[in-house]
Amino acid sequence: MTRQFDAIVIGSGQAGPSLAVRLAQAGLATALVEREHLGGTCVNDGCIPTKTLIASARVAHMARRAAEYGVSIGGPVAVDMAAVKARKDRIVQASLDSLTGWIRGTRNLDLIWGSARFTGPHEIAVGDETLSAPRIFINTGGRPVVPDWPGLSEIPYLTNTSMMALDILPRHLIVAGGSYIGLEFAQMYRRFGSEVTVLEYADRLIAREDADVSDAVCDILTAEGITVHLGARDLTVAPQGAGGVQLAAAVRGRSVVVTGSHLLLAVGRRPNVEELKLGAAGVKLDARGFIAVDDQLRTSAEGIWAMGDVNGQGAFTHTAYNDYEIVAANLLDGGSRRLSDRIPAYALFTDPPLGRVGMTEAEVRATGRPALKGQLPMTRVGRARERGETLGFMKVLIDRETRLILGAALLCVEGDEIVHSLLDVMAAKAPYDVIRHSVHIHPTVSELIPTMLGDLRPLE
Ligand SMILES: Cc1cc2nc3c(=O)[nH]c(=O)nc-3n(C[C@H](O)[C@H](O)[C@H](O)COP(=O)(O)OP(=O)(O)OC[C@H]3O[C@@H](n4cnc5c(N)ncnc54)[C@H](O)[C@@H]3O)c2cc1C
Repeated sequence: MTRQFDAIVIGSGQAGPSLAVRLAQAGLATALVEREHLGGTCVNDGCIPTKTLIASARVAHMARRAAEYGVSIGGPVAVDMAAVKARKDRIVQASLDSLTGWIRGTRNLDLIWGSARFTGPHEIAVGDETLSAPRIFINTGGRPVVPDWPGLSEIPYLTNTSMMALDILPRHLIVAGGSYIGLEFAQMYRRFGSEVTVLEYADRLIAREDADVSDAVCDILTAEGITVHLGARDLTVAPQGAGGVQLAAAVRGRSVVVTGSHLLLAVGRRPNVEELKLGAAGVKLDARGFIAVDDQLRTSAEGIWAMGDVNGQGAFTHTAYNDYEIVAANLLDGGSRRLSDRIPAYALFTDPPLGRVGMTEAEVRATGRPALKGQLPMTRVGRARERGETLGFMKVLIDRETRLILGAALLCVEGDEIVHSLLDVMAAKAPYDVIRHSVHIHPTVSELIPTMLGDLRPLE
């Protein structure tokens, strides 16, 4: 027998639960189908646990620096990895409990456990059950890429998911991948006390950022004792001793062999589309393998939407949540919100963090438009000096004709927070003069943003 609903949401990532609750509250009989855990990646093995672990790692780091601040902690710093994991588990569990209570407490909303696959344009199967609805919303997220390196299948490797179960300190963690996920784990485990080596295929870390940002991040990490190999190609893997791993790579023409106790794969993520059997519903993928969507998140099939990482339009919790906001506003509130109105913004949560908004300098140059650039080393920022955290720099790019902010990279203490002052001015479509002339609180890091904007130079 087919169970009939008004709406079905597949996957409980960062868009699905909010949309399911909104639909149910609007009086629609709604099913939320989840195969593994509520909250998806962000809650279980992404943002929340990693940022919790990073907080522990930062405490260890600052404790080691205590003497610089005239503070004695009376002995060497010890990290109890079981206690670090227990703290992370408690914080994840609190989020899960709150989400579970919210979903279970919503009328008109049925939570159905199992993996969903399409059996027709308006029909899915979950186990032995068939569910049908005129509107179906896909929020199935993504998973780590496991490359086909020779030897990889013969060794026990880690991903961001299995890292969450680790309650010991790896003697030597090898991180394959020098982008956002890999670098956050690399710095975190170095601060916990592991030896850490990063191998990156590209010729610089976080290769989609400007070269000066990549280089500064690389300097910060190597200064903490992390070994970085850039341009690492032709990787092969072999077991080493009891449970260890050996990675061999060609690095800029020479051969490098790294022997470690653990290997973390952080070489990208791919969308969860295979299990959905999208062909049965006529839902098409784009050239990169993500579900193709239009500016309002509609797929190629009538009555089916795709939100979050699975549509390839963002790879963040805030972009997935914004997808929910767009769909809900347009379906339930008579709105006409669009994906193309979203200004790209994200952070790399290393320490100092990188707060990013809009275009990179390279992207601005590629447009050929006349532009201005402001840049400030953190050594010039009083609050950073007072806090003893002067690593990094801020940079902002302005359209010379419109005076609009085009983009910014804030690699600095609180960079993930203060970037929002620029983002909000961009969202208001206001000229940079607004923030240039606003009076920021002294002494803060934000205070130097108007200062930086007061000293713009033509982008040569
Ligand atoms: C280590 C790490 C750190 C991160 N840190 C940050 C950060 O600091 N800030 C940030 O903004 N983003 C971060 N992200 C990215 C962020 O976690 C994701 O962008 C976010 O979770 C949005 O995902 P989503 O809503 O698309 O789906 P997901 O959260 O991936 O959830 C998808 C859900 O769908 C379920 N599912 C899949 N297929 C099916 C099926 N066929 N049937 C039923 N259920 C199914 C899955 O079990 C899962 O629960 C991080 C990611 C990782 C891996």
